[in-house]
Amino acid sequence: MKKYAVAVATSMLLLFMAVSAFAAGSTSITYYGQSAFKIVTPGGKTLLIDPWITNPGNPNGEKDLAALTKVDLILLTHGHGDHVGNMVLISKKTGAKLVTTPELMKAAVLHSNYPEVNTGNHLTGAFGGEITLLEGEVTVRFVPAVHGGSMEIAEGSIMPRNLVYAGLPSGFYITVKNGPKIYHTGDTDLFGDMALVGEVDIMMVCIGDKFTMGPQRAAQAVRTVKPRMTIPMHYGTWEILSGTPEQFESILKKSAIKGMKLLKPSETVVWK
Ligand SMILES: [Zn+2]
Repeated sequence: MKKYAVAVATSMLLLFMAVSAFAAGSTSITYYGQSAFKIVTPGGKTLLIDPWITNPGNPNGEKDLAALTKVDLILLTHGHGDHVGNMVLISKKTGAKLVTTPELMKAAVLHSNYPEVNTGNHLTGAFGGEITLLEGEVTVRFVPAVHGGSMEIAEGSIMPRNLVYAGLPSGFYITVKNGPKIYHTGDTDLFGDMALVGEVDIMMVCIGDKFTMGPQRAAQAVRTVKPRMTIPMHYGTWEILSGTPEQFESILKKSAIKGMKLLKPSETVVWK
């Protein structure tokens, strides 16, 4: 009888744990190289950031791109080609809505052929503003970034092939319901106001140097933001992005900073 009671209690406990795990859910984060990430929320929504899936650093690019059949939102930090990437194709295929500043949203429709039907006022905002999306599954705040903001015009655009103004570049502070608070820096230098971004669970930080912070300044950015987990990005796609995760990690270690998570292209980490 006693054994039976213990067994029942154990099964009840396991059931309770399973139900709680389901209720709490988990958030999965996949890196594709350069600055491209996929976030799948506990509620099953899919977000892409700067989706250059077929970048030269990703040996599985075409396969990964084909596997993206359900995407709810595409967040774009700025208009450079290594961030715009495959966004138009993905939006046409999946109906993914574009989340970005008003200037870049307009430029994306006019000059990159982003489907206008997948854009709109409720998807846009500017620095300091926070927008709630997907029925509260995520909120997105636009964070400044110190970088450029032009966009190269796609074939078939209404303008001759050239560069157009595409607003100021940004980073994103993303709050996932029942999930992590994520700071994607975009392409940027270190700036002191990173200290004011807020509580950060996961920081996606550019380390490649030349066009953004290199390892040294990126490590200082991590010291400033104090995230629980740090994922390096924007390195190694070409030789000129010469900052390496090894250099970055060794600098972090000197400051006794833990939590660097190195993701290879196509690799996923689960945040519980
Ligand atoms: Zn870039």
